Amino acid sequence: MSRNNRSPLVDRVTQAANTALAAQGYVSPVEVLVGIRWIDPGTVKRWQQGQIDCLEAAMQTNPSRITEAMELFRVWAAQNQLIPSETQYVARTPQRQTLRFSRGGDPKIEAFYGTHWISPALSEKKRERLAEQANRPPDLVVVQPLKHEWTCHRCGGTGDFLVMENAGPACLHCVGLDDLEFLPRGDALLTRRVRARSARSAVVVRFSRTRERYERQGLLVEPHTLAEVQQQLEAREHG
Ligand SMILES: [Zn+2]
Repeated sequence: MSRNNRSPLVDRVTQAANTALAAQGYVSPVEVLVGIRWIDPGTVKRWQQGQIDCLEAAMQTNPSRITEAMELFRVWAAQNQLIPSETQYVARTPQRQTLRFSRGGDPKIEAFYGTHWISPALSEKKRERLAEQANRPPDLVVVQPLKHEWTCHRCGGTGDFLVMENAGPACLHCVGLDDLEFLPRGDALLTRRVRARSARSAVVVRFSRTRERYERQGLLVEPHTLAEVQQQLEAREHG
């Protein structure tokens, strides 16, 4: 056991909360749990991708200890006069389901886990921006496969794009994104405008064998939003 693991829980919670607060101006229960190493960032990521039922189930820690840590965090936040900001946690999946934190799913406990605590030292404008960023749903990721020989695990079909699900790759039709249109990267202004206005969008990536990593190829966006923004930009150019 490391020295950090032996120190009393109150010290560990306080240290984790202070570190997150100093780094970003706010702190969330999930970050405290990561900070005291009861859950690792990789597991949180899988939970965000909808691959884990609830966050508590992914922790090895005794449920009463989790409750204790969260109560210590609540007291710390009150003592520091932090400002609560309720935050939507939705999965990085086409269904955008609400993520569950606790085993029981009690609304009060869920609300506590979903509350971010913001530093009162920040300006009101900055606090609003932080809250807005936290509530923005995470990007959906769609893969442009290198080979066209792939099979949708749901319908047996295939296509130009796929979404990785727990059970395997799925086609855009099966995940309900087949009405979206591909907008290749290149036009930064157009991309930014369409993305801001498209109620649904996804980031398209493709694996680069030479660079050994996924690279952004563009976006899938709503066709009518794309057409509208294109028209506006053209009108502006000629007006
Ligand atoms: Zn399919």
